[in-house]
Amino acid sequence: MTPKPESIAIRGAGVVGLWQALTLARAGHAVTLYERSSTPFAEACSSYAGAMLAPRCEEESADPLIRELGLRGIDLWRQTYPGTTANGSLVVALPRDRVLLDRFARMTSRFERLDASGLAALEPDLAERFAAGLYYPDEAHVPPEAALAFLLDQARCAGVALHLGEAAKPASTDIIVDCRGLAAKHDLPTLRGVRGERIVVRSREVALARPVRLLHPRFPLYVVPWGNSRYMIGATLIESEEVGPISVRSTLELLNAAYALDPAFAEAEILSIGAAARPAFPDNRPRIIAGPRYIYVNGLYRHGFLLAPVMAELVAGYIATGAQDPEVFVADPAQR
Ligand SMILES: Cc1cc2nc3c(=O)[nH]c(=O)nc-3n(C[C@H](O)[C@H](O)[C@H](O)COP(=O)(O)OP(=O)(O)OC[C@H]3O[C@@H](n4cnc5c(N)ncnc54)[C@H](O)[C@@H]3O)c2cc1C
Repeated sequence: MTPKPESIAIRGAGVVGLWQALTLARAGHAVTLYERSSTPFAEACSSYAGAMLAPRCEEESADPLIRELGLRGIDLWRQTYPGTTANGSLVVALPRDRVLLDRFARMTSRFERLDASGLAALEPDLAERFAAGLYYPDEAHVPPEAALAFLLDQARCAGVALHLGEAAKPASTDIIVDCRGLAAKHDLPTLRGVRGERIVVRSREVALARPVRLLHPRFPLYVVPWGNSRYMIGATLIESEEVGPISVRSTLELLNAAYALDPAFAEAEILSIGAAARPAFPDNRPRIIAGPRYIYVNGLYRHGFLLAPVMAELVAGYIATGAQDPEVFVADPAQR
């Protein structure tokens, strides 16, 4: 049975709101997307993401739910966005930190162990310094700016009406889907921000084809190739909602670790340095808090790109049939 088309207002055009808008419009609903910023993505945490789609590597520290939902997330990205790169991802450690690699292997699944020649075949740049690695072939990544712009464009093509510079709660719609990220904190008191810092560089000497994580006792790091010789270097998880500039210490640590991964980063140009706070609930699991007319989708923490398409699919299913996956839907207002 075709679901009854509803008029739906979405609050917030980060990666979560964009996927909601696109999915619900393609399901036949009349969707209006409200974004408080007058420039798309200017105030979105989503603009700072590495945009790794890494449900296997995240097993190292995340709830198993993230892997389960995340594998579906990769499918949806691949079906929807042609710029999705499905080259897998790589985890390496310097020979003296081999124990970290073994621990990471114990905590994760569906990887291939690589020796120096296996590493050289995948990422020749890393072969000189690293003798072993873990390869996760199921994983993928997207260039975040281009992916967000694509989603916005596709949402418009699907009939979504976009209202930029509008922060007020929409009045006359059947359903509101609240995707305001950390700005919904006043309604969702347990929501918190977890700061992440990152540096974007351009280098024609570095030639990585997939995200690489460097395990290190003090300065773990990941590098994501965004295309056009651009690389995002990121690392930190800081329990703070502060989104101010990044410190000299953090900058030095990030750049030192990048240099340890590949000395060719020494000649890279720095394009931007910044920080943002990821919206997270106390257990770092995403939530859909669904009332009859008002639905919050929030707490996607460090998995916003990975999980946004799946959250959209779940909300569309809820609107169509009332179905609620108990792993994600939360009714208890105390858990807000
Ligand atoms: C450094 C860093 C690296 C990351 N790397 C990854 C990664 O590799 N993979 C991954 O999956 N995730 C990653 N993440 C996490 C991901 O970025 C977040 O989970 C995701 O961006 C959260 O998206 P959101 O749409 O909920 O929030 P936001 O992107 O913050 O979007 C919320 C939007 O709501 C708007 N808004 C606020 N108030 C209102 C209002 N009243 N009316 C209308 N609009 C409003 C805001 O302006 C904003 O545009 C990373 C995050 C950081 C910081």
